[in-house]
Amino acid sequence: GVSMPRPNRRRVLTIANQKGGVGKTTTAVNLASSLAVLGLTVLVVDLDPQGNASTALGVPHHSGTPSSYELLIGEVTAAEAIQQSPHSDRLYCIPATIDLAGAEIELVSMVAREGRLKTALAPAALAGVDVDFILIDCPPSLGLLTVNAMVAAQEVLIPIQCEYYALEGVGQLLRNIELVQSHLNPDLHVSTVLLTMYDGRTKLADQVAEEVRKHFGDRVLRAVIPRSVKVSEAPGYGMTVLDYDPGSRGAMSYLDAGRELAARTATMNAQET
Ligand code: ADP
Ligand code: MG
Repeated sequence: GVSMPRPNRRRVLTIANQKGGVGKTTTAVNLASSLAVLGLTVLVVDLDPQGNASTALGVPHHSGTPSSYELLIGEVTAAEAIQQSPHSDRLYCIPATIDLAGAEIELVSMVAREGRLKTALAPAALAGVDVDFILIDCPPSLGLLTVNAMVAAQEVLIPIQCEYYALEGVGQLLRNIELVQSHLNPDLHVSTVLLTMYDGRTKLADQVAEEVRKHFGDRVLRAVIPRSVKVSEAPGYGMTVLDYDPGSRGAMSYLDAGRELAARTATMNAQET
């Protein structure tokens, strides 16, 4: 198949936006699936107790399954929690179960509470699964789970819904990213913004897109994800849209987004050497 450059150092992206329903989970699983189609090996870490990313990747996540919860509290290793998605041999998931709902509070009293995910995902901990990308799906809050995701990553990907109040809360998100950067993880930066649920028939969608591009410049991917029924149906079948309907506009646009994201690896590799 198509082949994209493999990163010298694996790329870890946190998919964050404390607003719910903007397409974080949809983006995590479909971008992951796209990158896998492009020949890269990808791990999705589900950090939302709802476990929607795990569902979409077709990975079991009933209570008691070794998951991101046990990983964070140190009961299992990443190698014990990782599962392969049934639809691709390059796509992996550390699922989330409902047990994660209490973690936000449990973590408060733990040592190194902000760095637990980073430590747990150390390359050696993945025991032979050589991943190129890790995408972390965050819950809709800026609590300790999201902070753990930001400490584990170098990059933040912000999905922005082309709707009213699209930029609401983004200022707060950016301030949190700066805090994490100055106190916990100097590497962290917003590398990528993806416009989601774009409806080309509305003037509003174009206005939002323009405003976002003015604000974030070339960090905004040229690919825009359209609002599409296929995208919203796919998780109900335990699939990403790339498996559910590979020819659909939703699938093609996520593939375009994945290609753009992966193409940036070449620049990163060059800067490191
Ligand atoms: P978040 O993780 O930010 O809460 P989701 O990814 O769960 O957001 O998306 C919220 C809802 O919108 C879900 O029901 C999802 O299926 C739907 N959705 C997301 N992206 C699209 C899209 N491009 N077209 C249609 N529906 C979408
Ligand atoms: Mg979600």
